[in-house]
Amino acid sequence: MIITFKYDTPKQEIENLSKELVNQGFGINYLPGEKLNIMGIVGDTSKVDIKRIKAIDWVKDVTRIQAPYKLANRMFHQEDTIVDVSGIKIGGNKIVVIAGPCSVEGQEILDEIAVDVAKSGAVMLRGGAYKPRSSPYAFQGMQTKGIECLTNSSIKTGLPIVSELMSIDKIDEFVKYVDVIQIGARNMQNFDLLKVVGKTKKPILLKRGLANTIEEWIMSAEYIMAEGNPNVILCERGIRTFEKYTRNTLDLTVIPIIKERTHLPIIIDPSHATGDYKYVEAVSLAAIAAGADGLMIEVHNNPECAFSDGDQSLKPERFDTLMTKARAIANVVGREI
Ligand code: PEP
Ligand code: MN
Repeated sequence: MIITFKYDTPKQEIENLSKELVNQGFGINYLPGEKLNIMGIVGDTSKVDIKRIKAIDWVKDVTRIQAPYKLANRMFHQEDTIVDVSGIKIGGNKIVVIAGPCSVEGQEILDEIAVDVAKSGAVMLRGGAYKPRSSPYAFQGMQTKGIECLTNSSIKTGLPIVSELMSIDKIDEFVKYVDVIQIGARNMQNFDLLKVVGKTKKPILLKRGLANTIEEWIMSAEYIMAEGNPNVILCERGIRTFEKYTRNTLDLTVIPIIKERTHLPIIIDPSHATGDYKYVEAVSLAAIAAGADGLMIEVHNNPECAFSDGDQSLKPERFDTLMTKARAIANVVGREI
């Protein structure tokens, strides 16, 4: 709720009302200005007697802020949430880069990719073991064997692992072995799945749905948080539009919007957003310039033969070049990688 005072309101009047509201348990954010004095009231404002406040001579206006999300809302949690993944902080000054193949295809190849991306500066390894494929005839992932490969690569390289959970019945396996549980675009509104991961304390990488609004996406984060898990990382991966030259349309505007409305970290997946390795570098740099807290990039040492998403996968050398440029852009915006 926002209270706007007339510009010539005596300080004492503002302090009196502020004290009264603090005594009732509300948080106060006061923004004095030249023309208007604005006070933000944080808490369950349904209990505030609006009529009485409006009746105060010095009060110009009272407005309720009606966002359906509370726990994810920046209004009620001013400071940025920093999600800790085995000591790696997502949402702080350091930009976090996650890289790896679309699908886990075998131990040897995964180890090679993991070593390469780590050398270039990636701090986490991605890889799908359970794959959400549009065709039931396409490679469905190595499943439990894939999680085993990820675990082994993680032990060898020290990189924590990110992998997608598609079904509630695999939750125990993921809690045990996976460092960051990814909820894919197609499951963004699988509310039972959101509730189940909300009951864990694991970091959750929540991708934006193929055709979901920002508010729907934040409400999905709210589902996870409402179950008691505050460790949500949002991931924009492009949305469906009429455009055909890219796989999806990357909505970079979400970065400042998410930062304004929520306190959650946001990362960008330029691989699924573009669908073409040639465009991945440009949009990765743009994402960093726009304030993203991280990137998740598909890398494969032999993209032509990848079991899935080879077209959008970078070879390790290209990933390395991208990282060098990304560091430079990060410096320009006062961050580091
Ligand atoms: C993925 O990251 O492997 C994936 C399937 O992405 P999305 O859910 O964004 O399509
Ligand atoms: Mn993929």
